[in-house]
Amino acid sequence: HQSKLPNTGTTIFTIMSTLANEYNALNLSQGFPNYPSDSKLNDLVSQAMNNGYNQYAPMAGNLDLRLAITHKYNLIYDSTYHPENEITITAGATQAIFTIISTFINENDEVILFKPAYDCYEPAVILNRGKPIGIELNAPDYNVDWEEVATKISSKTKMIIINTPHNPTGSIWSKEDLLQLQSLTENTNIIILSDEVYEHIVFDNEMHYSVCLFEDLKKRSFITASFGKTFHNTGWKIGYCCAPKALMEEFRKVHQFNVFSVNHPAQKGLADYMEDESTYLGLSEFFQQKRDLFLNLIENSRFKFKPSQGTYFQVLDYSNITDEYDVDFAKRLTKEDKIASIPLSVFYDKKKNDKALRFCFAKTDETLIKAAEILCKI
Ligand code: PMP
Ligand code: GLN
Repeated sequence: HQSKLPNTGTTIFTIMSTLANEYNALNLSQGFPNYPSDSKLNDLVSQAMNNGYNQYAPMAGNLDLRLAITHKYNLIYDSTYHPENEITITAGATQAIFTIISTFINENDEVILFKPAYDCYEPAVILNRGKPIGIELNAPDYNVDWEEVATKISSKTKMIIINTPHNPTGSIWSKEDLLQLQSLTENTNIIILSDEVYEHIVFDNEMHYSVCLFEDLKKRSFITASFGKTFHNTGWKIGYCCAPKALMEEFRKVHQFNVFSVNHPAQKGLADYMEDESTYLGLSEFFQQKRDLFLNLIENSRFKFKPSQGTYFQVLDYSNITDEYDVDFAKRLTKEDKIASIPLSVFYDKKKNDKALRFCFAKTDETLIKAAEILCKI
């Protein structure tokens, strides 16, 4: 049979984590914390199990959790998403993203995305016979050339996928970026898929600009989010999306036959946990301490860097060290120096070599100290 994804291999996250395990290397590649999720949250989930939340959740998700999400958007962004018809709980952000793309993309529809791009977007577009249109962000700041975006938008453009704070680069979009996007898509039917899984992780007193802050953009946008990223439990695979009612109605037509609903006790536990808003409001501070610890320790290494502005990833430039292709260098560091990272070239269409590796700093201080020791010797 013919592959529906002939040019797709195994995701880099599986490749690098497998290699890290095989060579017993420190794993700063795939993005996940190596410390426990809060025992208070774990207890709330087991309480939910003991209190009978063991059967199917409603198709749209546990109502208390949707109410907690409504409250969060009101609190942080002064923006309202109605729990009954504008929020759906999903199996991580990944399922939300896949379902949004499947719901709206038809053959030959063009989908604009920014490279380097998180690796789950493009295969979903291709499976639905859409055409990914990549626009490169400008290294080393990874900013957007909005004039180029304007030239790529046409009557064929069905969707634009954005991601701020940005994985893998750790850059964030400014208010001006969002305003540009808003004006370029005004009076069109283009759907914006705004991947905001790192919304609560922004550094140096900057703020996260969500699409929901911009009235005209919000009308056309889905926001996707991930509790795994926010509450340090990526293995639970609970996320959600929000969108205006008409868009969400279409989304749910697909969602109901894709998963129907997702893990109920985890949803109820998360809802109870979010009653204390500090559980998500304190996240930037928590990760900024980790970023700063890591960067201070590698200041005198041969790697160059711009401090991450958001996410829990730091890109390090190794052009002072070697000319090696980044995939080869990342593998060699894993095997020989016992530290695993993610090469950035895999998130582009063409074989490119920015000489940049992504390191995840959602790790214990002890792990970050060990990692820095290794990096200082390279
Ligand atoms: N989008 C981005 C940018 C991500 O980094 C990730 C990885 N967490 C996801 C989506 C997927 O999130 P989840 O693990 O909740 O499926
Ligand atoms: N989002 C995580 C990262 O960027 C990985 C998720 C995955 O393994 N698919 O590293």
